[in-house]
Amino acid sequence: MTDEERMSYETFVAERRAQIMELVGQAAARAGRDVSEVTVLGVSKTVDVDKVVCAWHAGYAGFAENRPQELRRKAQAIAEIDGMQGVRLDMIGNLQTNKVKQVIGIAHLIHSVSSLHLAEAISKRAVAGGTSVRGLLEVNVSGEQSKGGFTPAEVTEQLDELLALPGLSIEGLMAMAPAHDSAAARATFSGLRELRDELRVRSGLPLDTLSCGMSDDFGIAVEEGSTLVRLGRVVFDPAYPLGV
Ligand SMILES: *Cc1c(COP(=O)(O)O)cnc(C)c1O
Repeated sequence: MTDEERMSYETFVAERRAQIMELVGQAAARAGRDVSEVTVLGVSKTVDVDKVVCAWHAGYAGFAENRPQELRRKAQAIAEIDGMQGVRLDMIGNLQTNKVKQVIGIAHLIHSVSSLHLAEAISKRAVAGGTSVRGLLEVNVSGEQSKGGFTPAEVTEQLDELLALPGLSIEGLMAMAPAHDSAAARATFSGLRELRDELRVRSGLPLDTLSCGMSDDFGIAVEEGSTLVRLGRVVFDPAYPLGV
C-alpha cells in the first residue's frame, strides 16, 4: 500500500469497527448480556499484514487464520512490528495431525479441535514440547455433511477422554452455521449453547468460551451467547455490505 492508500484504509477499518461494535453492543443488550463478554477477532486469512496492522491500530486485539502455514507467516511478520509482539493469533481452520507442530506455541487458541484423534495429536505434541495448548471443541451442530467437527453425540460420549488429555486445555466449543439462513443460524448457535450447558454439568468445568458468529450472522450469535466472534469480510472488505 502507498501511504495514501494506507491512510484511507485505516479510516475505513476504524469506521467499520465502530459500526461493528455498535451492532455487537445492540445484540448483547437485546439478550441482556454485558458486551464485555464478547471478544471480536479479525479473521485475517484473505488480507496481508499491512491491513492487519491497520486493524490493530483500529482496536482489534486479536486475529485468526485458517491455515497453519499462513498463521506462521503472519505470526513472524507481526513479531517484527513495533508494539505488535504478542498480539493474539488464533487457529480457526481445519487442522491435520501432521500440521499440529506448526501451530503449537504460536496459536493462542485452537478453535478447530475437531476429533479425538486430533486432540490426541495436539496433546502428544504439547507434552513433548513441555507446553500446554488451549483449545475449543468444534461441533457440527447443524449436521451439514460439508462441515467437520464432532457430532453432538460424539462430543458428549468422548468428553471425559478429551478432558483427560495432558497438555490440552479445553475451554469451550466452536461451531459454524449454515450460510444465508438466519433461522438455521440461530438454531445452530442456541444448540451450541445448550450443548455447552449440558457438558458443563457433566464435567463440572466452566467451558466458558463459545466461538460462533461470522460476518453474516454475528448479531444472532451474540444474541445466542457467543463470547468469541470471528469476523473476516465485514472487518476487512470495504465492499462487504454491513447490515445485520
Ligand atoms: C473465514 C472464516 C471466518 C470469517 O468469515 P467471514 O464470513 O468472512 O466473516 C470465520 N470462521 C472461520 C472458521 C473461517 O474460515
